[in-house]
Amino acid sequence: MTRDPFALADTLGPFQILHVHRPALGLKGIVVVDNVACGPAIGGIRMAADASLEECFRLARAMTFKNAAAGLPHGGGKAVIIADPRMPPEAKERHIRAFADAIASLQTYIPGPDMGTDERCMAWVKDEIGRAVGLPRELGGIPLDEIGATGFGLAAAIDVARASIGLELKGARVAIQGYGAVGRHAATFLAGMGAVIVAASDTSGTLVADDGLDIAALTALKLRGGALVDAERGDKRAAAAIIDVPCDIWIPAARPDVIDRGNVERLRTRMVAQGANIPVTPEAEAALAARGVLVLPDFIANAGGVICAACEYAGATQAAALATIDERIRANTRRMLALARERAIGTRQAAILMAEERVRAAMALRRWR
Ligand code: NAD
Repeated sequence: MTRDPFALADTLGPFQILHVHRPALGLKGIVVVDNVACGPAIGGIRMAADASLEECFRLARAMTFKNAAAGLPHGGGKAVIIADPRMPPEAKERHIRAFADAIASLQTYIPGPDMGTDERCMAWVKDEIGRAVGLPRELGGIPLDEIGATGFGLAAAIDVARASIGLELKGARVAIQGYGAVGRHAATFLAGMGAVIVAASDTSGTLVADDGLDIAALTALKLRGGALVDAERGDKRAAAAIIDVPCDIWIPAARPDVIDRGNVERLRTRMVAQGANIPVTPEAEAALAARGVLVLPDFIANAGGVICAACEYAGATQAAALATIDERIRANTRRMLALARERAIGTRQAAILMAEERVRAAMALRRWR
């Protein structure tokens, strides 16, 4: 079967696609450098057994928009290694190092961490090819998952957006799907701002507590390697039951496409703040908008991590990175909401307009457009 390699292309990108295959190692991977008009692409290396070229392309485009919307001097790209991230540590190091070696010449791409990879993996990448972001502190990095850069930015976006639907953060009821780096830090920051986290889920199940979960205890449990269903407090339900919990703010912070045409009607919330990348299909986003549910699109709301990575790359301190995240995400959320109101369009459409305008302006200044 021959497939058209340009089937995904449009006037923004992709700029380059690299397929990596090292049969002796069982290594298969893909890099999509989507657009480099604003600068070399920054985007994570995802390690997942079910990753595909199409997923990689969609994630790379999301990075083009995310980096442009955030005003970073970087284009968008993404890489996937098609393998189980829970493989033995020595095998994982071999995979990551071999992948890094294979993409050494791709100067247009600066790798960062993503699902299935972490700061340690980025240290191996940096060791191989001399460039990576999301590094351990020992290598001059700002460990973005440890400090909760994305959860911090997500809370800032929610804090700006809540006024447009007349919602107070104090007492707002929040449900969070996924209690990893993004979900647990979003929970901590929002609880600190007065919100009540009424439900949280991971692959083991959903915990529900009407009067609020004990966030500090859940975070400690997860950091010890435990599962949410091992917690003492909270009603335990199936993982998918998080979709049915009535709340003011629903936060997807796990996998792509978790809300689709088939389950969108089950969500009973006033705002969906996207911590995960592409967690809601386009049809489901349209259905939410039609019901008056405010959607904060992924590349505006979850840009905290990449803003932190770009600050690290530019040599900034952790305090400066957090201040930049707060300022950029609040300003972008305000601008997106204003544009959506002025033009009577959806929030994602407004966010894309903002980002695309910057990418096209940058493209007009480059030789190869
Ligand atoms: P992570 O691996 O630390 O955590 C993921 C969590 O989701 C885990 O608790 C896991 O148990 C849970 N999960 C997986 N499948 C689930 C399911 N079906 N139902 C319920 N829970 C499920 O990952 P992360 O870094 O927190 O990233 C989460 C998402 O946010 C990903 O889509 C990632 O691409 C995106 N994202 C992350 C960052 C970042 O800074 N880490 C930045 C932007 C976007």
